[in-house]
Amino acid sequence: MTEETTTPSNNFIRNRVRKDIEEKSMSIMTRFPPEPNGYLHIGHAKSICLNFGIAQEFNGQCNLRFDDTNPDKENEEYVESIKRDVEWLGHSWSNLFFTSDYYEQLFQYAVKLIEMDKAYVCHLNAEQVREYRGTLTEAGKDSPHRDRSVEENLDLFKRMRQGEFKEGECVLRAKIDMASPNINMRDPALYRIKHAHHHRTANEWCIYPMYDYAHCVSDAIESITHSLCTLEFEDHRPLYDWILDTLSTPSHPQQIEFARLSLDYTVTSKRKLHQLVDENHVDGWDDPRMPTITGLRRRGYPAAAIRDFCERIGITKKDSQIDVGVLENCVRENLDYNAPRAMCVLKPLKVVIENYPEGQEEQLEASNHPKREELGKRSIPFSREIYIEQDDFMEEPPKKFFRLGPGREVRLRYAYYVTCTDVVKDADGNVIELRCTYDPETRGGKSPDGRKIKGTIHWVSAASALPVQVNSYDRLFNTPNPGAEENMLDSLNPDSLEVLDNCFAEPSMAEAEAEKSFQFERTGYYTRDKSDNKNGKVVFNRTVTLRDTWAKVSK
Ligand code: ATP
Ligand code: MG
Repeated sequence: MTEETTTPSNNFIRNRVRKDIEEKSMSIMTRFPPEPNGYLHIGHAKSICLNFGIAQEFNGQCNLRFDDTNPDKENEEYVESIKRDVEWLGHSWSNLFFTSDYYEQLFQYAVKLIEMDKAYVCHLNAEQVREYRGTLTEAGKDSPHRDRSVEENLDLFKRMRQGEFKEGECVLRAKIDMASPNINMRDPALYRIKHAHHHRTANEWCIYPMYDYAHCVSDAIESITHSLCTLEFEDHRPLYDWILDTLSTPSHPQQIEFARLSLDYTVTSKRKLHQLVDENHVDGWDDPRMPTITGLRRRGYPAAAIRDFCERIGITKKDSQIDVGVLENCVRENLDYNAPRAMCVLKPLKVVIENYPEGQEEQLEASNHPKREELGKRSIPFSREIYIEQDDFMEEPPKKFFRLGPGREVRLRYAYYVTCTDVVKDADGNVIELRCTYDPETRGGKSPDGRKIKGTIHWVSAASALPVQVNSYDRLFNTPNPGAEENMLDSLNPDSLEVLDNCFAEPSMAEAEAEKSFQFERTGYYTRDKSDNKNGKVVFNRTVTLRDTWAKVSK
């Protein structure tokens, strides 16, 4: 944790809420307002944990509100995925709402603004709007349509609703101040025309409210007390307040801004994530390399680890990039404690134990977790032929190599000591098989004469091993800020997925459930994928390595 962050329990938003409760004895109402135009990502998790977390902490309520005002880009698939992801993250909404539920009310409020002479229908085209808007240093100019009568505006606005105009022909604008130093206050658009099919209201509407108008009014309709949003809306707050003050809505929520989450080596813009999916750079929204909630879930990230991450990064008013290692460490810590252990050989090398009786198989006892007895034990079969990792053997090992080599003895985890007696090679000189002997006195990995063995390696029994495919995932991008690159695709990590489809896991892994994580001893944390591969093999996704292999690279 860096100095400028604060943990959520004492972050400035919680402090403010606490103060409001003390001073105004209010009951807290927050909302999480996603637009259903894509899948949720890790950045949304921050907002979800904040909004739902505050409601929970202060006995308030939190609504899930779909901000569905862009009919072209939104659909039911996204709505359903968002609901699923919020629930999976461990939160439940007090009410489920859609901004489209309020279209009629929003329309009536707009009529009220017109009646107050605070809104007008404007026919400037996009280019003219830009020209009239002015710049940061120059005041804008009033639209020639600004002084229309209330009657004329009411008539035009109703005709906009009735579909008498084409897209872009006119908009409804707030009448505020074209000379305001805040450009958002220079008569912003409130409604635009869109002849589009909406996933919920179908063709009922051809005018749609703009975000800045719909958002504050929806917050007020729901009696939201604290409307938490990201920093880019700070300059929109005067408009948020102007609309609600002008309309004298029964409730006037406070907008409070906080910094967006951005993670290095990751993109968290829905537009960019869409591009990755649409152009098939990844295997869909739930590709385990995606920073989407559904992708992290498929990769085996526990929801609790994501919540823990959101706690640790805290809530600030300053944008910063978080080291993705922080997220990975939350996952590692969670899994170190929770994941049962298992053995899986990724790159198999066959070992024949020549003094072990042919046709015999015995069951050895293995603990499911070295530090948690309560997770119990399982039995793993041992027999004359086993697989070990190719990397655990060297024909001419250097001094510090404590694994297997000709004439060397090593401990097979939970099993016996074995000594390599011979090496079988193919025509090209590659080692394809080892011959060993075992010491029957060392059952369970303990030596009766106290002789010291430095190396312990994992293995599986060849006869009963489960053939599996293992997907090792790495970061999708190999530059720290891919979203800022001219072309994010240039930063795609070509080695973000390594498929090993000749792996062998201990037989108990046939019963592994998707999303349940295991530590494959000495290798990493893995989760079974939702589907088997095309050859019917069980697939495991690597959730995270045992240690942060990037720590040196990124420092
Ligand atoms: P994008 O730019 O990726 O489309 P968005 O902000 O438009 O993101 P919404 O669906 O509108 O996405 O966001 C819903 C809520 O989640 C908003 O309140 C938004 O502020 C919040 N949110 C989105 N991205 C982040 C992020 N990276 N960090 C924190 N909160 C976020
Ligand atoms: Mg948005």
